[in-house]
Amino acid sequence: MAWDFETDPAFQKDLDWVEAFIKAEVLPLDHVLGSPYDVADPKRNALVRPLQAKVKARNLWGCHLGPELGGQGYGQVKLALLNEIIGRSAYGPTVFGCQAPDSGNAEILAHYGTPAQKTQYLQPLLDNEIVSCFAMTEPQGGADPGVFTTTATRTSDGWRIDGEKWFASNARYAAFFIVMVVTNAELPLAKRCSMFIVPAGTPGLSIVRNAGYGDHTDSHAYLRFENVRVAKDAMLGDEGGGFLVSQVRLGGGRIHHAMRTIAHAKAAFDAMCERVLSRRTKGEVLADKQTVQEKIAESWIQIEQFRLLVLRTAWLIDKHQDYKKVLKDIAAVKVAMPKVLHDVAGRALHLHGSIGLSREMPFAQQVIDSYFLGLADGPTEVHLVTVAKQVLRGYKPTNELFPSYHLPRVVAQARELYPD
Ligand SMILES: Cc1cc2nc3c(=O)[nH]c(=O)nc-3n(C[C@H](O)[C@H](O)[C@H](O)COP(=O)(O)OP(=O)(O)OC[C@H]3O[C@@H](n4cnc5c(N)ncnc54)[C@H](O)[C@@H]3O)c2cc1C
Repeated sequence: MAWDFETDPAFQKDLDWVEAFIKAEVLPLDHVLGSPYDVADPKRNALVRPLQAKVKARNLWGCHLGPELGGQGYGQVKLALLNEIIGRSAYGPTVFGCQAPDSGNAEILAHYGTPAQKTQYLQPLLDNEIVSCFAMTEPQGGADPGVFTTTATRTSDGWRIDGEKWFASNARYAAFFIVMVVTNAELPLAKRCSMFIVPAGTPGLSIVRNAGYGDHTDSHAYLRFENVRVAKDAMLGDEGGGFLVSQVRLGGGRIHHAMRTIAHAKAAFDAMCERVLSRRTKGEVLADKQTVQEKIAESWIQIEQFRLLVLRTAWLIDKHQDYKKVLKDIAAVKVAMPKVLHDVAGRALHLHGSIGLSREMPFAQQVIDSYFLGLADGPTEVHLVTVAKQVLRGYKPTNELFPSYHLPRVVAQARELYPD
C-alpha cells in the first residue's frame, strides 16, 4: 500500500464535528468550572453529563478502548487525530471519556481486575461516575523505583500497607487508588514490587496535603499509608509483577499525553500567528520582520515534526499491538514532547510582549506545563537512555583498528569491485 497522509473522509467528518463542538461547547467549561475530576460537583455534572451524552451518541466515547470495554476500537492513529483536537480543552478528555490517569487505570483493571473489582470500579470508571488515582512516586524519589520503601506485608486475611506516596494526581477526588508497593525488598528490582487496589476511605490512608503547580486547579497529593488493611484479592497481577502491571498503562499514557500536547502547542501557535499579523511596530506588522518570521517557521516545523513522530508511533502501536515493540518510539515521543510545547509556548509568550507573560494569556502556564511533560511518567533523561539503548541494538562494533567506513578502506573496496 502507498504511504497515505489523508484521513479517511468519514472519520474526517467526525473530526470536523469534534472541532466545532470543542470550540463552541467544551472549551467554555474550562473558564466556568473547577476540576474536571470533581465528580461530586453538581454544577460540573449538570454541564458535563449532557455533553458526554452527545459524544456517546456520535460513537466517539472512550476512543482509547476496545469495544469490549465500551470504546470504539478505533486504534491509536484515530485517537491521535481526535486527541490533538480535544486536548485543547482541560475538559475535553473528560467529555470524551479518555482522561488520564483514569484511561490507564481502566486498562489495568480490565487486564488484572477480578470480576467483582470490574463491577465495583471499572464500569463506573468507564462511565466517569468515579475517578481514580495512580500512586507510584514516593517523596524520596520517582525516577528510580529502587528507592521505593512503601511496603505491603502479608496478614492472616490479606495485606497491610505502610509508607508514603508523592504527587499522586487527583487523589482528593479518587474513589480508588492503584498503588505500587514493595512486597519483597530482598528480590532484584524487577520482582520487588506489586500493584494493589486500595479503595478511598480505607482506614489508615490519608492525604497529608495537596500540592499544586502554576495556575492549575488540579491537585497532586502527598499520601500516607499507616497500617492500611486490604483483602488478598486487592493485588492486581502477580506478586512481584508490579512493573509488568504498570507497563499496561505507561505506554499508552505517554503517547496520549503527546497527542494532547500537539493540541496545546497548536493553540499557542495559532495565537502567535494572529498576534504577529495584527500587532504593528515601527510602521509594519510584526509578521513582516524576519526575526519574527523565523519564530513562526521554527514553531511550525517543530509542531509538524513532532506530529509526524506521534502519528507514526501511533501507527506502530496499532500495527504491533504490543507496547514492548514500540518502546524506542514511545520514549522518543516522550523526550520530544516537552521541548515542543516549551519552545512554541515560549515564543508565543515572547511575541505577545507583556500581555503574553500576564495571567490574561495562557502561555506562562503552558511553559510550566512543558516541565510537567518532562517529569510525569519519568524524566526526560531516563527516556533518552531508552532511546539510545534501543537504537544501539541495531548496530555492532568493529574489531578493526580503523572504522568500517574509513575512506581508504571504502575506496579500496570500491576499486576491487570495479577495477576498470
Ligand atoms: C504534574 C505531575 C503529575 C504527576 N502525577 C503523578 C501521579 O499521578 N502518580 C505518580 O506516581 N507520580 C506522579 N508524578 C510524579 C512523576 O512521575 C515524577 O515527578 C517523576 O517520576 C520524577 O520523579 P521525582 O519528581 O521524584 O524526581 P527525581 O527522581 O528526584 O528526579 C529529579 C531529576 O533528576 C534527574 N534525573 C533523575 N533520574 C535521572 C537519570 N537516571 N539520569 C539523569 N538524570 C536523572 C532529572 O533531571 C529529574 O528531573 C507526577 C509529576 C508531575 C510533575
